[in-house]
Order: sequence, then structure tokens, then C-alpha cells
Amino acid sequence: MIPLDVFGSESVAADLLQQVRWRNGVTCLRCRSDLTVRNGSYGHFQRYLCKDCDRTFNDKTGTIFAHSKIALRRWLFSIYAFLRFNTSLRQLQCEIEVTHKTIHRRIERFARALDAPSLDLVGPVEIDEVYVSAGKKGRERDQESRSRGLSTRGRGTYDGDKPPDGDKPPVFILADRGTGQRYVIPAKAADESTIRLLLAVGQEESLTVFTDGFRAYEPLEEDDAFTREYVVHGDGEYADDEIHVNTCESHASLTRRWLSPHRGISKDKLTQYLRAFQLRRELYRKPGRDALKHAIQATL
Ligand SMILES: [Zn+2]
Repeated sequence: MIPLDVFGSESVAADLLQQVRWRNGVTCLRCRSDLTVRNGSYGHFQRYLCKDCDRTFNDKTGTIFAHSKIALRRWLFSIYAFLRFNTSLRQLQCEIEVTHKTIHRRIERFARALDAPSLDLVGPVEIDEVYVSAGKKGRERDQESRSRGLSTRGRGTYDGDKPPDGDKPPVFILADRGTGQRYVIPAKAADESTIRLLLAVGQEESLTVFTDGFRAYEPLEEDDAFTREYVVHGDGEYADDEIHVNTCESHASLTRRWLSPHRGISKDKLTQYLRAFQLRRELYRKPGRDALKHAIQATL
């Protein structure tokens, strides 16, 4: 259920922020003391005074929502529509009657505040990379994953080590079959050290990793920390029982769909849009109000 009350009233929106922000009690932003008292208000927002250091602050101080000229309820609606409905920012501009530039700045501010997903791999783990167009508009199609885009048929002629061109940064997709978690992580390069970094989770037992035939995964075979199994697409051998990266591939297509209303985002903003995608998945099945609270909490 969409939390319409929050989007319709600034004081309800302020109450929601207050609940999430101080869920563990009000503490002073300067000295962390919990000896605080209510001290008037700042618009719709509660103000507080720290009895230890005399500082005053309000519910928005120190959050991304501070010093904002746009009403909190509008900002929360934008975040909600962006995450839940994959709404383009141009469309949002029409819905809440603020300029496109303002919406852009708010949404990107929100997305920048999100943390990188922390990987907690149990395994077996599927890993695959895709190259998504960043900074390109129009009908130009995203390239399929490198393994099909660049490889020629047959072993030995595999040409998968070519670096992608500059507008298509590699994005790694990990699907942990042990936990059901999916991760979408942009990287600077699709090379061995990046792959090791992604899979380095310090587990005690060897981590089973399913990949395709890309050469950058080969060193995993020499390493006792991993058991690598792979499928070679070029050989027409797509899924050998459990050895496949199909989950990654379907998640990659969801990722593309997520990015598609935001065509024209630059390469350096890809990370924040993908973090928002990760968050979208976390709150996918939550009721509206809980989803919104979760989204606010993710920025604190
Ligand atoms: Zn204080």
C-alpha cells in the first residue's frame, strides 16, 4: 500500500523521518550525549537541545534532507516512485512540479548516500559480468555479455580478454545460491584482481564458484580457496545441470531494465544507480511504509 499520507502532509513526512532517524533514541550530533531535550521546532521538524554541549539540532540536521528547499514529502515521494516503480526522473518532474534539475540533484544525492552492498557469500556462487551502456542515449542496444558478444565459436579462439570500450564499464553480477542474494557491482576492470576482491570472503571452506569460460576466472582453479566450475557458451554447452550462470543472466536483464528509463546517465554515476537497484531489491516485498522507512534508513 502506497503511504499516501506521508506524501500528502509535511508533518506526517516529518514524523516518519523522526521515527527512523531516532529509532535508537535522540543523541547529540556533536558530543553523542543522549541528554537532550525537545527545544521548539524548525518548521515541521522537531528541534532538540543538548544539555551537555548546548548545541541545538533538528530532525533533518546532518541528513541528506537538511537545508533542502524542496519539501520532504515531495522528496520522499520521488525516492519512493524512483525505487518502487522505476520512474524516470523526467516523469517525476511532471508528478511533483519541481524542475528536472532539482529532481536529479535530489535523487542522486539520495543514491550517493547509499552504502556499497556488503557481500556475505555462502556459496555456491554464480558470477558473470555484463557491459551496460553508460552515457549513451537513444536506441543503441546494450551489448550482450562479453562471452557472447566477443567470442567466436570453439575453444582456443576465445577472445574474451579484450577490454571493453570506455563507455561500457564492466558490471559484475553475483548470485549466491546459498543465501539467494544477488549483487550487482560495477568495476573498473574485468580482471583477476577484481574477481578475487569480489569473492574474497574469508570463508573456511572452499567456495564453489560457477562461471563461464572467461579467462580472468581461470586463476581461481589454482587456488584452494575456490572450486571453479564453468560452462563455455561458445560450445553450445549452456547448462550442465547445476553448472550455469543463468541466475546471473536473468538478473542482468533486470538490471538493464532498471537502468533503461535513466538512459544517458554517465559512467561515474552508474555506481549510485546500481546501489539504488540493490536497495530496490531489498525492499521489494515490504509494504509501502516499511519500504520507505528502509529507504530513509539506508541514507542515514
Ligand atoms: Zn552535545
